[in-house]
Amino acid sequence: MRAVAVVPGEPGSAQIIEVPDPPLSDGAILARGRLIGICGTDAEIVNDGYGTVPAGADRLVLGHESLGEVIEAPLETGLQPGDLITGIVRRPDPAPCAACAAGEWDMCRNGRFVERGIRGAPGYGSELWRADEEYVIKLDPALGDLGVLVETTSVVAKAWAQADRISAGLPYAPEVALITGAGPVGLLAAMLARQRGLDTWVVDIVRDGPKPRLVAELGARYSAAGASELPVRPEVVIECTGHGPVLSDVFASVSPNATIALAGLSHHPYVTTSDLSATNRQLVLSNQVIFGTVNAGRQHYHQAAEALANADRGWLASLITRQVPMQAWAEALTKKPDDIKVTVALADS
Ligand code: BGC
Repeated sequence: MRAVAVVPGEPGSAQIIEVPDPPLSDGAILARGRLIGICGTDAEIVNDGYGTVPAGADRLVLGHESLGEVIEAPLETGLQPGDLITGIVRRPDPAPCAACAAGEWDMCRNGRFVERGIRGAPGYGSELWRADEEYVIKLDPALGDLGVLVETTSVVAKAWAQADRISAGLPYAPEVALITGAGPVGLLAAMLARQRGLDTWVVDIVRDGPKPRLVAELGARYSAAGASELPVRPEVVIECTGHGPVLSDVFASVSPNATIALAGLSHHPYVTTSDLSATNRQLVLSNQVIFGTVNAGRQHYHQAAEALANADRGWLASLITRQVPMQAWAEALTKKPDDIKVTVALADS
C-alpha cells in the first residue's frame, strides 16, 4: 500500500512510499484511510526535524489527524464496515507510568510515549491502517469528511477541560473568553467557547481573508488590534499562537483570577533566559493561573466528536480550505495565504 512519508528535518523529502499492509500487531480494527489533516507540527517535522522515525525505519509516515472507514473490526467493538473512525495519536509508554496506567497517556510522566505520525510510530497517512479499539473513536456518520477535524478539536477540548477545572475553584462563573490566533486550533477553541455560552473574543494579526467572517459567524468578536486593546478583560484565555509578544499582550489584558491556557507551541526564535519577576508579581497579586497543555486523552476525543456533531456543518466545512490528492500531498505542507485547514485525500487516487 502507499503511504505519505518524510525524513524529519529534510525539507523536500516528502514522498509517497510503498509499505507493507499494516500488521495485525497494530490493532484488530482495519480501516481504509480517507483523509489526513496537515498542521504546523507536520511542517515542523519536515522542516525543523521535530519528531522521530520509528525504530528500524528510515522515514516517518506522517498523519496524526486521521479519518478512516472501517473495513473489518471484531464483533465486540460494535463497529461495522463503513463506520467512520478517527485514531488517537498517543500511545502509552511501555512501563507504564501512573498517568498512562490510568489511561491518561496525554499526561505521560516519563516521556516514553509514542505519537502516531509524530514521534516513533507510523502515522495514519496510508491507504490502510490498523488500531485497537482503545485507540479508535467512532464518529457520527453525518460528520463525513469533517471528522478529520476531531484530533485538532480534541487538543482544544483538553485545554478547555483543564481551564474549566481551574475556573471551577472560583466563586463565580467566568463570562469572557479570549482566543489568540485564528488558525484551525484557535477557531475550534472559539467554537468550544461559544458552545459554553461565553462572550468570546478572537485576536489575530490578519485584517482580511476568511478569519474575521468565520469568527463573526460563531457569534464571537474578532480583532486585529491585540489583546490589550480589547474593550473587555478576558477571564479565560486559550493562547494558540505560541508567540511570546502575543502572550505579553495577553498578560496586559486579563482580569484578576484569569486562567490562561497555553495551547500553541512556540516556533519562533526565543531567548532561553528571561526575568520572570514582573510575571510573578502579576500572577501572585491577581490570583492568575497560567498552564500548558498538549495532546488529548480519549475523553477529549469524545468531547471533540460531540462538539463537532453539534456544530454548524457549513461553518466547519469552511475551515477546510484546501484538499489535495495523495499524489500531490507535499503541496499540503506549504501554507497558502488563505489556508486554514488543508487535508490530504488518501482514497481517491
Ligand atoms: C498534536 C498533538 C501532539 C503534539 C506534540 C500536535 O500537533 O495535535 O497530538 O501531542 O503536536 O507532538
